[in-house]
Amino acid sequence: MTEAAGTAGADRPFDAECLFCKIVSGAIPAEVVLDTPRALAFRDINPQAPLHVLVIPKGHYRDVAELAAAGGGLLDELVLAARDVAVEAGAADKGYRVVFNVGAGAGQTVYHTHAHVLGGRGLTWPPG
Ligand code: IMP
Repeated sequence: MTEAAGTAGADRPFDAECLFCKIVSGAIPAEVVLDTPRALAFRDINPQAPLHVLVIPKGHYRDVAELAAAGGGLLDELVLAARDVAVEAGAADKGYRVVFNVGAGAGQTVYHTHAHVLGGRGLTWPPG
């Protein structure tokens, strides 16, 4: 979190400088596909697959490890939200991918935990 970090009205960690906190607050628009009390899912602006949705906790945690360390079942909720997004998109039967990039070297560019949910096409391994 930055120096601007604090606690949002809903009593969850909040960073006023964070892009995804601004999406949670509604200050920046997003194409939301799932909204739960503690998680939000919206379409990635630069989709890498027919289904490319980001699932985030509404609270600010810089990466998935920080989120897991916070406990409280938030990580479970993200994974289950990712499943619900894939099912709703009709992508679950053929398989989908849930990716957390951690750190710049792995491609993380937004330091607010997000699961990339990818599907709707053949997915190769190593990731592609
Ligand atoms: P990262 O590289 O794993 O941190 O993923 C960040 C993702 O956020 C990228 O796939 C971007 O395309 C996506 N992204 C950045 N800004 C926005 C936005 O305003 N709305 C939706 N997705 C965004």
